[in-house]
Amino acid sequence: MSKSKRAVFPGMYIQGENVIKELPSVMKKLSGNKNFLQNSKKFLSGLLITAPSSMDFILSEILHLLPEGSRVVKFNRECCQSELTRLTAIVQECGARSITAIGGGKAIDAAKIVADNSGVPVIVVPTIASTDAPCSACAVIYSEDGVFERVHYQSRNPDAVIVDTSVIAKAPVRFLVSGMGDALATWFEARSCGQSGAQNECGGVTTMTALALAKLCWETLLEYGPDAKQACELNTVTPSLERIVEANTLLSGLGFESAGLSAAHSIHNGFTALKQTHAYYHGEKVAFGTLTGLHLANTDAGEMETVYGFCKNVGLPLTLGDLGLDNVSHDELMKVALRACAGGESIHHEPFPVEPEMVFDALLKADEFGKRYK
Ligand SMILES: [Zn+2]
Repeated sequence: MSKSKRAVFPGMYIQGENVIKELPSVMKKLSGNKNFLQNSKKFLSGLLITAPSSMDFILSEILHLLPEGSRVVKFNRECCQSELTRLTAIVQECGARSITAIGGGKAIDAAKIVADNSGVPVIVVPTIASTDAPCSACAVIYSEDGVFERVHYQSRNPDAVIVDTSVIAKAPVRFLVSGMGDALATWFEARSCGQSGAQNECGGVTTMTALALAKLCWETLLEYGPDAKQACELNTVTPSLERIVEANTLLSGLGFESAGLSAAHSIHNGFTALKQTHAYYHGEKVAFGTLTGLHLANTDAGEMETVYGFCKNVGLPLTLGDLGLDNVSHDELMKVALRACAGGESIHHEPFPVEPEMVFDALLKADEFGKRYK
């Protein structure tokens, strides 16, 4: 295990209203040396992988501006091995010099893996702010049925991330709130890694920089989360919404990757083993994983109140019932705990040894405590 400090960043981050219009010029910039490649017709072409819901809504704005020879393909909803194989074959066939992902977390993850396997730059255009995946060099591969399989690490972070807040503001508010759930975990997981000296997600130990960004992420959520939720409900871009989009996407992304993950994400991975939770988003399960992590670490009552209060204010899960687990059995909950404590899981980054029985108890405590806020 490396003891050197390490931090990684995306090559470029652009956020604001209507910044989607910058995509064609970013594609051209990243597609290689124009003079060197001038004899090739495909010298600027790119492949756009888009989630089905993004097709008309966003592409109509930019389709006519895309570099010549660019191709658009629909993403098939799951970031699983068969979809990655299909997309990689398309990249090889059309000789794309860049890959752009337009869509949510899974479309983005698939594009990042395909670009890494193909050795071409990747541009990420999230249409929702529901996870902190866009800026990172890691992606999650699921089974065809949506069960967590493994994390795939890319050789470098995305070359560009373009976040159009006018697009994010039009998306259903549940996505933004879910992104706040994913961002909520960042500081608490970073702090655990800082205390234990555990490995971060980029192969080193945390920096002062990553810890400060993770803390700023939490402070931003607490101060601007409820306002941003309101703005999104009204489909308007406000300074609060801009701050929360940056917290969910950039601060949380830099924070989790360069500071590290711990209990919350392992508990999320545990939940994916139960079918009842599949209708719930990553950030919703991570939020309850954060609450469980606080009980696991015996966090002081004041902090517990603040975090539960935040979850209530923005509408994140407070109980197992909020994740479809009203009638969860003892065996099922133990399955979650066992999965969360599997070898290699980030729960072992906590500054104390963690056993499945402790996670099982913490899940019940987190649920009991949450019921008080109902
Ligand atoms: Zn996450």
